[in-house]
Amino acid sequence: MSSNMITLALSKGRIFEETLPLLAAAGIEVLEDPEKSRKLILPTNHADVRVVLVRASDVPTYVEYGGADMGVSGKDSLIEHGTQGLYQPLDLRIAKCRVSVAVRKDFDYERAVKQGSRLKVATKYTSIAREFFAAKGVHVDMVKLYGSMELAPLTGLADAIVDLVSTGNTLKANHLVEVERIMDISSYLVVNQAALKLKRERLRRIIDAFASAIPQSS
Ligand code: AMP
Repeated sequence: MSSNMITLALSKGRIFEETLPLLAAAGIEVLEDPEKSRKLILPTNHADVRVVLVRASDVPTYVEYGGADMGVSGKDSLIEHGTQGLYQPLDLRIAKCRVSVAVRKDFDYERAVKQGSRLKVATKYTSIAREFFAAKGVHVDMVKLYGSMELAPLTGLADAIVDLVSTGNTLKANHLVEVERIMDISSYLVVNQAALKLKRERLRRIIDAFASAIPQSS
């Protein structure tokens, strides 16, 4: 972590897009478009503030170990990573979605759960899924995947998936149905605890500006 630089970790896509108005409230403008550039470090209109692009699930790691001073991370990634060493001052109420269980249309989920048979679950979110099914008393065989979870029930790899759902269009396009909603998700501002002490003034200003610009609707 360079001492005078403030480094913000973001992931491409919804989180990046929906963080831009919050940055604008802090007077920060990102000078390059990640969809057009291959750069992983993006300059801003402030010489001492930069954005680094990392995978969504890596944001908590970057911030915890000081590769970034702060970051924006989905609650899903935070739960899977654990929140040790991270200061989480704000629910930004952006990139909202939910974690749900989905199965093939022709799979009788209710019956499988009631019968107490083992359910084969494919997911990237093994902690969330494990805790959810344990609380229901359902025995699961967990299959860890890193992407394209929707494919698992279609190929016989699993009976069910646990994945992020937003509009539901991806499930529908793959003939899957949402059978349980596990939790609502939004993105949080996370801050490295040492950085918060060493760069207190500047980070506080950014945190306060973000707080003032959090979307209120829905
Ligand atoms: P949808 O078709 O709108 O329900 O979106 C579902 C697809 O987008 C799935 O592949 C999800 O993994 C992904 N997705 C939905 N919401 C988010 C989010 N907030 N952050 C990252 N990925 C998401």
